[in-house]
Amino acid sequence: AADNVKASNVAKIKVVVRKRPLNKKELTKNEEDIIETHSNSLVVHETKLKVDLTEYLEKHEFVFDAVLNEEVSNDEVYHETVEPIVPIIFQRTKATCFAYGQTGSGKTYTMKPLPLKASRDIFRLMHHTYRNQGFHLKLCMREDGKQQVCIVGLQEYKVSDVETIKELIEKGSATRSTGTTGANEESSRSHAILQLTIKRSVDGSESKPPRVVGKLSFIDLAGSERGADTTDNDKQTRMEGAEINKSLLALKECIRALDNDQGHIPFRGSKLTEVLRDSFVGNSRTVMISCISPNSGSCEHSLNTLRYADRVK
Ligand code: ADP
Ligand code: MG
Repeated sequence: AADNVKASNVAKIKVVVRKRPLNKKELTKNEEDIIETHSNSLVVHETKLKVDLTEYLEKHEFVFDAVLNEEVSNDEVYHETVEPIVPIIFQRTKATCFAYGQTGSGKTYTMKPLPLKASRDIFRLMHHTYRNQGFHLKLCMREDGKQQVCIVGLQEYKVSDVETIKELIEKGSATRSTGTTGANEESSRSHAILQLTIKRSVDGSESKPPRVVGKLSFIDLAGSERGADTTDNDKQTRMEGAEINKSLLALKECIRALDNDQGHIPFRGSKLTEVLRDSFVGNSRTVMISCISPNSGSCEHSLNTLRYADRVK
C-alpha cells in the first residue's frame, strides 16, 4: 500500500518525540519517571522548590505529531517516521530524518536501525514497482564536528543489497568510536550523517552519468547539552560547544524556513546545514525525532529538548 503514496500526502515536517524507559542506574537511585505520555501529547511533571524549600509540582504540556512511549519498538518508530517517506524519494524528493536530544536519551538506539529498514524497502520498490527503470542506490557516510565539515567516509558506495549496507555502516561506526574517550563521549560531540541517494541512469544509457533523483539523510546529532558547553574552561570544548550550538540553531532555522515556504533558506548559518544544503532546497521533507530521558534528574534537559522541538513544529 505504501508504494502508491503521493508526495502531497506526506507532511513536509513531522515532529515526533520518543521517550526511553528508565535504565538500571536510574531505577537503583529510585529516580521517578516524570514524563506522562499520550498518543500525541505529553506532560512533564517538574518538581520545584519554594523559597521556604517546600516542594511543589509544575506541569508542562506539549503537543506533537506523535509521542512514542517507552514501550514502542524500533519497528514502530520506523513505521511512524521514515516508512511513509521512502516511496516519495523515487519522485524527486529529498528527505531528512534526524534525532535530537541530550546524550543518553536514545538517539543512536533510535537512528541506527532506520537506514537498514529504509534500504530494505527501497530495494523492494526497485525490484517490484520500479523494475528495469535504471534506478540504483548509493550510500555515503560522514561526520560533522570538531570544527571540520566532513571527516570520514566522504566516499560514495553503490550498493545493491542490505547486507553490504550493513557491513559499510559497521565499518563506519568502528571508525567513529576509535576516540580515546569511548564511543558515547565521541559521538556526543559530533553529528553523524548517513545518506542514501537514489540515482537513475538516463534513458537506460550507461555512458551518461546517472542523475540524482532523491535522497534520504539520517542524522544522529551531537548531544544537545553540548551546545551549552560554551563556558567550559577547556578552549577546545568551548569551541566545539559553540559550533554545535550554532549548528543546532541553524538547523532549526532551516526547518522553519522550509515550513513557511520561504525562498531564502539560511543554510549558511553552520557547517552542518551547509552539508545538508541540497536537502533543504526544492521538494523536501523533514522528520525530527526528539529523544527524551524519563528520569527526574534529566528534567531540565528534557524541557530544553521539548522546547526546541516545539519551535520546529
Ligand atoms: P544517545 O545516542 O542519545 O547518547 P543511546 O542511544 O546511546 O543515547 O542510548 C543510551 C542507552 O539507553 C543505551 O544503552 C541504549 O541501549 C538505551 N536505550 C535508549 N533508548 C532505548 C529504548 N527506547 N529502549 C531500551 N533501551 C534504550
Ligand atoms: Mg549516541
